[in-house]
Amino acid sequence: MNLLGMTFIPNIMHAMMDAIAPLHCETCDQCISGNTHVHRVCDACLYMFECAPNDDVLLNQLYTQNNKDSFVCSIESHFAFHQEAPIQRIIYAIKYGNAQYMAFDFGKYLARIKKHTEVDYYVPVPLHRARVRERGYNQSLLIAQGISSVTKVPVIHSLERLHYSTTQTKLSSKDRMQNVQGIFSIKNADRIRGKRLMLLDDVMTTGSTLEECAQVLLESGARSVSALTLAAATSTRGIQ
Ligand SMILES: [Zn+2]
Repeated sequence: MNLLGMTFIPNIMHAMMDAIAPLHCETCDQCISGNTHVHRVCDACLYMFECAPNDDVLLNQLYTQNNKDSFVCSIESHFAFHQEAPIQRIIYAIKYGNAQYMAFDFGKYLARIKKHTEVDYYVPVPLHRARVRERGYNQSLLIAQGISSVTKVPVIHSLERLHYSTTQTKLSSKDRMQNVQGIFSIKNADRIRGKRLMLLDDVMTTGSTLEECAQVLLESGARSVSALTLAAATSTRGIQ
């Protein structure tokens, strides 16, 4: 499905489908009854997920790993991601399981629990075109669209991923940095010049992808670049 042209089934259709085939929570497998904040995640699980480190800790982590001042001026994340974290199943479903509603709903959820309106545009971290064709969607774009649907801050497609990079799962921090160097380019520099941008991604692992995106955006004239991710890896053995 073309991402830009993608539309969501109206809520009433959604409710009818739920009545025919009741939904089960991705995490605890309990039947979900009534409205929940996030599609296929019961509210009990949602509130039990471990929280990510606070903003200062994340920014310091970025500084320590990169051994230089960060291009990203601030970074926020909501959930902690590690091998044993229940949210791991959710992240896999969003990344690889076609859980597009869930990505969009998590965007709306983030918008309601954090303040993200002091920016001019949201910029989703792009996938390579071939990856979008394989997967059918970009989960970071869906999260950005979910936030935007609440805050009304527009989403702008300013970045393009030039290389189809291999998975970063088993790479060290240094290798991750090298793996993403030079892989992003700007699509519309005139629209971001002087603007405050917020990068959106599903998981921050080492932050090397966010840093590379921020550098490209700042070099193209952006006034500032902050970042928000759904989850932050609390060990570098996350997923990409
Ligand atoms: Zn649950």
